[in-house]
Amino acid sequence: MNEYTIKVIERIQRTPTAVTLRMEKPDGFTFKPGQWGYFTVGGDCGKVSRSLSFSSSPTEPHLEFTKRISDSDFCQNVEQLQKGDEVSFRGPMGNLVYEGGLDKVTFMAGGIGITPIRSILKHAVDKGIGGEKFLLYGNFNFEETAFAEEIKRWEKEDPGLKVIHILKDPPEGWEGFTGFIDSRVIEASVPDLPDQTFYVSGPPPMVNAVAMCLDELEIHRDRVFKEELEGYEGMV
Ligand SMILES: Cc1cc2nc3c(=O)[nH]c(=O)nc-3n(C[C@H](O)[C@H](O)[C@H](O)COP(=O)(O)OP(=O)(O)OC[C@H]3O[C@@H](n4cnc5c(N)ncnc54)[C@H](O)[C@@H]3O)c2cc1C
Repeated sequence: MNEYTIKVIERIQRTPTAVTLRMEKPDGFTFKPGQWGYFTVGGDCGKVSRSLSFSSSPTEPHLEFTKRISDSDFCQNVEQLQKGDEVSFRGPMGNLVYEGGLDKVTFMAGGIGITPIRSILKHAVDKGIGGEKFLLYGNFNFEETAFAEEIKRWEKEDPGLKVIHILKDPPEGWEGFTGFIDSRVIEASVPDLPDQTFYVSGPPPMVNAVAMCLDELEIHRDRVFKEELEGYEGMV
């Protein structure tokens, strides 16, 4: 695995508490949709590193990660970055990869766990990857739902893609699911459960809770791929 030093292109406020750092893609660097890198960012807090999924797709000209902002040293450094500053990373790593080939796939993301799935979905859109694709996407509220607009656009463009939002604190008049992704939500929204392959990404408590639901629903474990975004206690 190589180490790369790349320049910042842009910092994008993705939601009130999530920031995307867009960077130059190093020459010759390739990765698969859903993989991650180990990023090191310097600044007033010294050099700090974190594992972060690439929220960009291999089909895009830039590389990016999207980080839930906390008061950690890493985040304070990210907040200081300007266009042209350097960031280094090692990668790619990770096995939560989907490049097509299945008739029925269900993605389940908890909060910032959308990042690898955003990469996978953008890759699928750009490559015209067919098949039935469900996205069950759990968030506290709409304001914190990262990439909501483009995911909505992709759903209109791809008749195979169906997106189900689950909100912990929904707005008044919300008619969708409330709470978290659980067996009730999965059974009510995803048909042909035994034929689906599941990709689950989020904070460890979310991933574990969903894995237990899939066990309850008697989904074979060979059909479940998971990415735990370690470092978060709660649903983010
Ligand atoms: C494969 C992978 C992909 C990830 N992708 C993303 C992503 O796309 N976006 C995103 O926002 N976050 C992602 N994370 C989580 C990220 O690496 C950080 O752990 C998390 O964001 C918390 O870091 P912090 O700097 O905000 O807070 P901190 O205050 O540094 O961390 C909060 C708490 O978590 C602990 N902690 C930090 N890192 C780890 C770790 N790796 N393992 C166990 N405990 C840890 C700290 O000790 C602290 O107690 C990913 C993690 C993994 C393993």
